Formats: sequence, structure tokens, C-alpha cells
Amino acid sequence: MLGYNITKWPPDPSHRHPTMTSQTASVISRFLPSTHDHSRCIETALERAAAICDLRRLRLTPIRRRVLELIWRSHAPIGAYAILGQLTRDGHKAMPPTVYRALEFLSSASLVHRLDSLNAYIGCGDPSEVHNGQFFICHKCESVAEIHDTATTGLFARQADTLGFHIEGSHIEISGLCSRCEKKESLSG
Ligand SMILES: [Zn+2]
Ligand SMILES: [Zn+2]
Ligand SMILES: [Zn+2]
Repeated sequence: MLGYNITKWPPDPSHRHPTMTSQTASVISRFLPSTHDHSRCIETALERAAAICDLRRLRLTPIRRRVLELIWRSHAPIGAYAILGQLTRDGHKAMPPTVYRALEFLSSASLVHRLDSLNAYIGCGDPSEVHNGQFFICHKCESVAEIHDTATTGLFARQADTLGFHIEGSHIEISGLCSRCEKKESLSG
């Protein structure tokens, strides 16, 4: 088995994504119990985003910050139109292009990730480096866990080589059931 280096939530801000040379897997964000203090998650995410933008000389404008905050309203993904709806309720005269530009900015900084299978966005638990996410998505409650596993990306890179295929991103989405939903299902079944 590989030497799995599982980090704890909240992740240590000094944690770096492992490089290709050290085959490790880190849990970026796990399935959290509904009882956890989510206000802390939001606070940490916003503080971290401000620090990262400072460091990378990126501008976390009020609209970008608000969109990030809306994405972090829970650990379930949120779609662009739901974000737009909330901004409108906030009294913002935001138009879809404004929201899409903010989402593009946040995604390119790895502060959020777009989940193609759900056409929705999720906050990243460790945006300390720009990266592609690897996700486990519960198809029942839509909660999401993110990992970073260099063994998987290495495996795909080798297979792509064999096939003569150029990989442009190692974003992976895996659908299934989280343990909470699985438990509920087995109780009702
Ligand atoms: Zn939370
Ligand atoms: Zn991430
Ligand atoms: Zn679930």
C-alpha cells in the first residue's frame, strides 16, 4: 500500500500539495458531520483567500469575495444561477457575465472548483497551490470530499503515454454514496 499522508480538517495552512516525486494522497476536505461549526469553515476560507490573493498579487474584489462566501455557504455545490439569485437578493445588480467572471477568477486561483458533473461550484479546503481537484461526490446529498492523490495522476499519465494521449487536466469526479446516506439507505431498506 502507498504511504498515505492524510491531513486533518481544517487543513494545516502550511501544508503543500505533494509533488509528483513523493507519491502521497492528501485529504483536502472530507465529509463533515452536519453538526460541525460551519461558520469557522467560512471564516477560514475567506481569510485564506485574502492571504493567498495578497501573496499572488491577485485582487479579491468585493464581488469575488461575496461569490466565494456564497459558494462556502455549505459543503454542497452551488450553481452559477443560484449565486446570481442570491446576489440579486443582496441588492446587487449583478449580471450573469459578472458572476461568470468572478467564478473564473476563483476557479483559476483554485479557491473554488467547478464540478462538471453537477455544473456547480465547491470551495477548496486547501488552495495553497493551484491544482486540479479529485472529488468524491455523494449523488444523494451532494456533499463532496476532495483529495489530492499523485498516485492516481501518475497512473493516468502513464496510461495516457501508452495511448498517445495528452492530458490537459487531472480533474476527476467520482460519484457514489457518503457513509451518512449509505447508513440511511440501509436503515430504510
Ligand atoms: Zn463546514
Ligand atoms: Zn482543491
Ligand atoms: Zn450523502
